Amino acid sequence: MSDVDCIIVGAGLAGLACARELSKAGRSLLLLEAGDCPGGRVATDRVEGFQIDRGFQVYLEAYPEGRRQLDLAALQFGWFEPGALVVDGGRLREVSDPWRRPWAAVKSLLSGMVGVGDGLRTSRLRSRLLAACRAGSLDPQLPGVAGERSTRAFLEANGFSEAFIARFFNPFFGGVFLEHGLETSESIFGFTFAMFALGRAGLPAGGMGAIPTQLAATLPSGSLRLGARVESIAPGHVALAGGESLSARSVVVATDADVAARILPGMVPAPRAWKSTRMVAFAAPKSPLDRPILVVGSDDSGTIDNLSVPSDIAAGYAPPGAALVLVTVRPECTLSDVDAVLAAKREAVKLLGAGAQAWEHLKTVHVPRSLPDETPAARRLRPASPRVADGLFVAGDWCTSASINGALVSGRLAAEAVLSERG
Ligand SMILES: Cc1cc2nc3c(=O)[nH]c(=O)nc-3n(C[C@H](O)[C@H](O)[C@H](O)COP(=O)(O)OP(=O)(O)OC[C@H]3O[C@@H](n4cnc5c(N)ncnc54)[C@H](O)[C@@H]3O)c2cc1C
Repeated sequence: MSDVDCIIVGAGLAGLACARELSKAGRSLLLLEAGDCPGGRVATDRVEGFQIDRGFQVYLEAYPEGRRQLDLAALQFGWFEPGALVVDGGRLREVSDPWRRPWAAVKSLLSGMVGVGDGLRTSRLRSRLLAACRAGSLDPQLPGVAGERSTRAFLEANGFSEAFIARFFNPFFGGVFLEHGLETSESIFGFTFAMFALGRAGLPAGGMGAIPTQLAATLPSGSLRLGARVESIAPGHVALAGGESLSARSVVVATDADVAARILPGMVPAPRAWKSTRMVAFAAPKSPLDRPILVVGSDDSGTIDNLSVPSDIAAGYAPPGAALVLVTVRPECTLSDVDAVLAAKREAVKLLGAGAQAWEHLKTVHVPRSLPDETPAARRLRPASPRVADGLFVAGDWCTSASINGALVSGRLAAEAVLSERG
């Protein structure tokens, strides 16, 4: 038996954020995590002196909830340059942010990468989305709207050319959404676009796993229990694998949607489909890029979906005298892991020069359950409130939006619901 105000199941970002809010409000809590470290889908492994995140992820500087909950200065972020180098017809071409790198944006126009019409449409879209963001009407935490469209339908309705969608929006936001049809809802696109426009994308010095580590460090000692897998739940009671039973006045289930549906049968919507990702990490003698920028692939036939050099961005990703290169493999690629490594290297040699021949494979990371489906139809299935029964609550990115910001928001909302029920 435990004697705490609240048990939280799952120490991903949502569970950690919930625990932090409850602890700040003076509530006693126990955070139960099945795995061997906090962070869930945000984790970093150490391999031969390199820091390898479990799947390519970035933190967006403008995330409002991150500003609220994280000590960003202590995380010592390094930042990507705005924009991207797009692989187009086997060559690298720049798409730049005209508000932050005007001269580079002029070059994008001159190179034909961005037509004048699409440039103007992007400018109008940016103003509209930033105004909506400031007015609070762009919040992806708002309930799903019946008439919400896919990102692709939204871009087409806004007059963007097929060529620009294929050359920029699809590779860049497809990489963020881990899909290539731009089926993700327009509200997620709008918020993400605004976040990229308002700030930079970055990596913390300790790897992405430093974010949950920082949150976990704010909790009272002894409140996080690792290796504690919850098997079933009834209001006020939690049963662990192994037979132990714990009780508390409130229970928050902050797992992913599949686990929540299993341990809270009939209380939460059916789980949504997952999007998966495969990332290959290489050790390189030096960075293949001359600046800290993301490379995204737009060639349908290629293996490389995106390529980054985290050691150019933040300290700690590679040992001295080496660089870490990450390649996210296109979701459609059916090559075996061994062949995907060879194909990625071959493509890198063509794009970035013969130096890529010296890259050594460090690790291939598979994340089969990366992001829940965020089509407009899937988003309408989100729970209406974190409270699913008396004393029972849910949190997780599937309740809000599939991002670091969304997971942090959902944890805070669940904590607020616990506090308002229990006073
Ligand atoms: C490859 C990849 C790329 C991404 N890219 C970005 C990005 O660039 N920017 C961005 O903002 N977001 C990105 N995301 C999304 C973001 O990482 C997630 O939305 C967020 O981490 C989800 O947090 P969560 O707490 O909701 O869920 P999770 O992280 O899944 O946490 C759930 C926790 O519950 C635990 N658990 C499960 N079952 C049990 C049980 N029975 N008992 C006890 N504990 C249990 C799990 O072990 C886990 O720790 C990416 C995610 C992935 C995987």
